Amino acid sequence: MGSRGDLHTHSTFSDGVLTPTELIELAYRRGVRVMALTDHDTTDGLPEAFEAAARHPDFTLIPGIEMSTDVPGSEVHVLGHFIDWQDREFQSRLVHLRESRLGRARRIVEKLGELGKPVPWERVASFAGEGAVGRPHIAQALVEAGHVATVNEAFDLYISRNGPAYVERERLTPIEVVDILTSVEGLPTLAHPRDLDDLEELLGRLKEAGLVGMEVYYQDYPPEEVERLRILAERFDLLPLGGSDYHGLGGPSQREPGDIPLPDGPLERLLSLARDRGSLERV
Ligand code: AMP
Ligand code: ZN
Ligand code: FE
Ligand code: FE
Repeated sequence: MGSRGDLHTHSTFSDGVLTPTELIELAYRRGVRVMALTDHDTTDGLPEAFEAAARHPDFTLIPGIEMSTDVPGSEVHVLGHFIDWQDREFQSRLVHLRESRLGRARRIVEKLGELGKPVPWERVASFAGEGAVGRPHIAQALVEAGHVATVNEAFDLYISRNGPAYVERERLTPIEVVDILTSVEGLPTLAHPRDLDDLEELLGRLKEAGLVGMEVYYQDYPPEEVERLRILAERFDLLPLGGSDYHGLGGPSQREPGDIPLPDGPLERLLSLARDRGSLERV
């Protein structure tokens, strides 16, 4: 059995392959009892997710989101847990972000055409469905068109940050996103920090802005990496949290929901922080 908590998952409302209902059923079967749905730049999966979660009285769904931010030369993702997702201003910001994702995805598809690797826009749109369009949808279209064998190869050859078809998204800084999440009573956590440059400098700045946690027990991070990050989290007085980042797309580093070594201690501390702030009442 895996962990009781999984604080980072994706559904069809962004670039995951399972619907919120399927995702929750899978997580529940695997023994997860506290799960955050953290789709990219959207909370549109939450109504369905709450409905699915309500079928299991011993299951807590945390309303969450994963927001992409940019720092010079790379990307930083910030999770928000227990957000007041129905806030109007927050929702209009998200609509704007998703619109900019759409324009950016179209530009990536154009570049692929210029590189002699055309993919039909309709296929990208169809993989994205109702959800926020992202590079994984373009990767799926590249696989389908036969230009690459796997989603990973699509990233490696074309659409990773240094790839020839890469286009930036609208830029938000991590500080701005921590502020946005805090403004809707969310508890912000730095996602998958392993490969970030100047991590300590970033943590110092984000902690000051209101960062609450950092992902330590993430996906396939090996024990020595977990230990390094755990010590760092402690030093910055951040909760050592974690999640599978389940998308259902497969691939060597992917983990099933709850297939992470997140201990109960930090999970309980997150829940009690939310309780203190009154955010658990929204769940
Ligand atoms: P986007 O938000 O459109 O920039 O896409 C970011 C998403 O692409 C991430 O959340 C991952 O799910 C996925 N991704 C990023 N890099 C890779 C990679 N090298 N291989 C596979 N998936 C990736
Ligand atoms: Zn994703
Ligand atoms: Fe991410
Ligand atoms: Fe993610």
